[in-house]
Amino acid sequence: MSKPYADREVWFFTGSQDLYGEETLRQVAEQSQEVARLLDASGDVPVRIVWKPVLKDSASIRRAMLDANSDDRVLGVITWMHTFSPAKMWIAGLSALAKPLLHLHTQANVELPWESIDFDFMNLNQAAHGDREYAYIATRMGVTRTTVSGHASNPAVTRRVGTWVRAAAGRVATQSLRLARFGDNMRNVAVTEGDKTEAEIRFGVSVNTWGVNDLAAAIAQVADADVDVLVKEYEDLYDLVPELRAGGERHESLRYAARQEVALETLLSSIGAKAFTTNFEDLGDLRQLPGLAVQRLMSKGYGFGAEGDWKTAVLVRAAKVMGAGLPGGASLMEDYTYDLTPGDEVILGAHMLEICPSLTTSTPRVEIHPLGIGGKEDPVRMVFDADPGVGVVVSLADMRERFRLTANVVDIVPPRASLPHLPVARAVWQPRPDFTTSTEAWLTAGGAHHTVLSTAAGIEAFEIFADLSQAELLVIDEDTTRRGFRDQVRWNQAYHRLAQGF
Ligand code: MN
Repeated sequence: MSKPYADREVWFFTGSQDLYGEETLRQVAEQSQEVARLLDASGDVPVRIVWKPVLKDSASIRRAMLDANSDDRVLGVITWMHTFSPAKMWIAGLSALAKPLLHLHTQANVELPWESIDFDFMNLNQAAHGDREYAYIATRMGVTRTTVSGHASNPAVTRRVGTWVRAAAGRVATQSLRLARFGDNMRNVAVTEGDKTEAEIRFGVSVNTWGVNDLAAAIAQVADADVDVLVKEYEDLYDLVPELRAGGERHESLRYAARQEVALETLLSSIGAKAFTTNFEDLGDLRQLPGLAVQRLMSKGYGFGAEGDWKTAVLVRAAKVMGAGLPGGASLMEDYTYDLTPGDEVILGAHMLEICPSLTTSTPRVEIHPLGIGGKEDPVRMVFDADPGVGVVVSLADMRERFRLTANVVDIVPPRASLPHLPVARAVWQPRPDFTTSTEAWLTAGGAHHTVLSTAAGIEAFEIFADLSQAELLVIDEDTTRRGFRDQVRWNQAYHRLAQGF
């Protein structure tokens, strides 16, 4: 079975030293290859794990890290001290490492050979203290890393290694991400603003603006034959309302939406952009606010933010990459309105149009309805309900000296009725731990109204992604209390200001 990140690798480094003699080092090499093989063979680990020769001195450790840095295939490195690897040897290498790091705290055997154990065995299998020596220096140096402890055959371990790989892939993806804004942010909105230069320093994403009429010009260039192909694809994949079908009185609106999709994808790929924004206030010569086209591009893995919200577009793109190959999906989402029935509160999330169909396994309906704002022609859009299940909503806000991710673990539920008069895709959820604690915590955090809703990549992936990006993350989940959350927000203010240095 091919791995979701088939063109990428994670390198597996084993630490030891020359003290032990050839026979022991041969066993270290053999057993570490077996650990790497177990990880590689696991369906939980979405990338090839490549074992590298055992590291025994400072120069070779530094060289190995530099090689990992310079190889674009490498998402990150795993380190394990099978024996005792005096950790001053790791200072130069850890200083040089610029890729995500996982410290795997494991050993070759599951059970101890209680009847036969001798001191040779003890000498060979001493990760219990070898990894402590290594972790000391990593901590002392302030090296960002994820630590996973347990045997490589344990699914709880491979799942966590897999989650780290996904976060590393998200990190690497945002580091090379180009984001195209068509128009500026919605006028007067605060939370969608932000420091684009700082975002490039922190997340690596390059955020730039194109005139919306560049897009309008590209739409005018689209060949009818390309539109025909897409319209056929819509007919095959979706449930089109009769007025949009071939021969229907509004079929031309569907063709225009297809034209938008072709033009957007062509233009974005010519820029090298995997994320973009639009703004209904700034549509230039576009005839419709792009709805169906945006939904389609999100389902192809593009990040998107509405009303110029480039920060949410970054999150959607990161979630797409981190969730690759998993059931579920990721979409722009907006907390829209509430059912406040006491004890049974739910949040209805949606947007004007732009919700990604990766959130549903049902067949979306494609419909056309007026849009109250923007003053353009009626836009075509997919309409569906997000599948029930666990998800996470995550927002990204600029707190001036840092970026703050706020995340809430939620349980998506079926809508309470079929919503026949609501002409947009939507998700209905119960936030953890409960409506009151969740929303009070979210507001205390100053979390945004736009989020990514991810049902593929989960909260653990976002936690690691936040660490790798040196962004603050506030999590609201089943363990959150009002008092604890308020204190966390206060302490984080102090921590993140101190962590900036001077
Ligand atoms: Mn919005």
